[in-house]
Amino acid sequence: MKDILTAWKWNGSVSEPIPYGEGHINQTYAITVTSVQGAKRYILQKINTNTFKDPAGLMENVCGVTDFLREKAKQRGADPARATLHVVPTKEEKPYYQATDGSCWRIYEFVENTVCLQQVQSAEDFYQSAVAFGNFQHQLAEYPAHTLHETIPHFHDTPKRFADFQRAVAEDRMGRAAQVQREIEFVRAREAEYHVMVDLLAAGKLPLRVTHNDTKLNNILFDKTTGEGLCVIDLDTVMPGLAANDFGDSIRFGANHCAEDEADLSKVNFSMELFEIYTKGFLQAAGEAFTPLEKQTLPWGAKLMTMECGMRFLADYLEGDHYFHINYETQNLNRARTQFKLTADMERNWDAMQKVIEKYC
Ligand code: ATP
Ligand code: MG
Ligand code: MG
Repeated sequence: MKDILTAWKWNGSVSEPIPYGEGHINQTYAITVTSVQGAKRYILQKINTNTFKDPAGLMENVCGVTDFLREKAKQRGADPARATLHVVPTKEEKPYYQATDGSCWRIYEFVENTVCLQQVQSAEDFYQSAVAFGNFQHQLAEYPAHTLHETIPHFHDTPKRFADFQRAVAEDRMGRAAQVQREIEFVRAREAEYHVMVDLLAAGKLPLRVTHNDTKLNNILFDKTTGEGLCVIDLDTVMPGLAANDFGDSIRFGANHCAEDEADLSKVNFSMELFEIYTKGFLQAAGEAFTPLEKQTLPWGAKLMTMECGMRFLADYLEGDHYFHINYETQNLNRARTQFKLTADMERNWDAMQKVIEKYC
């Protein structure tokens, strides 16, 4: 790995890279460069090119968005070095380095004096993550989202996800479809809804936004002293999309108290309380950037992200569990069932969800 590091210009001695953090997609290391001025840390990452087939497009997205966020930070008098990631260019002024074996590497400046929380411990953590991702939307509201590359094509193309699901049912490779007819029907019964958001986008009624697409708590760095959500990281899945999808995915995984594969569905409940907490933080931070229709359709984001996830789990179960890693045979089926239970809860709470949105508009 020392060879990799020679692709960058260093003004000091560079330490051995040490594995760092708890990311699952890329390989992340910390390195320290020591010079007469002192020690400075960096993050070295090997980009997962199995997942991301176009590292050049991906890094163009990252540089575009971080340059924009840095300018915004300067304008509001915030510290630009802590408001977003900072890509360190190679000696050849490239945003990443491709080694002779084809592997792709990038370096970020280490954002010091921050904490990265692995799990939501309290409602306050969930609220703070909503504020951070709301701010991300707010700051990037004027970014030309159509210029971004789709790093994973058709990522939230719900009608396409449904078509893939239908194919998995028709093929029934594992002979499992007969036992999950109820779940299959649950997905099919909502077919007309999968178009709602993409149709509004196509009709020009919803704006294309910069979306993050991995809005987890551990993709935010919080200031160690103030606890403020400083810097949204992990920008690999930044793509053009709908604000409701980022919001919806956060609600899908955050607004409940159960494990994603909970087998006892009586323990799987959509929490209106957590929905309200997230909505409050998200709209307080981003509300003024959104159009009225965009705000009204946020519950659609929650429901469609949950259904999309559920149908992907069920399709993977039908296809023999090739995509989502399993620890036991029915794990993907259990995962699908929790998503369907959460969806049914959202449908029961649909009016209440709309009212919560109105409250924070
Ligand atoms: P995921 O599994 O969420 O997709 P990943 O493999 O894409 O993660 P990152 O989220 O980019 O990896 O980074 C992994 C961890 O490294 C982060 O959770 C954070 O703790 C730390 N980290 C990343 N970049 C920085 C940085 N610039 N400064 C400080 N810490 C960082
Ligand atoms: Mg991450
Ligand atoms: Mg990631």
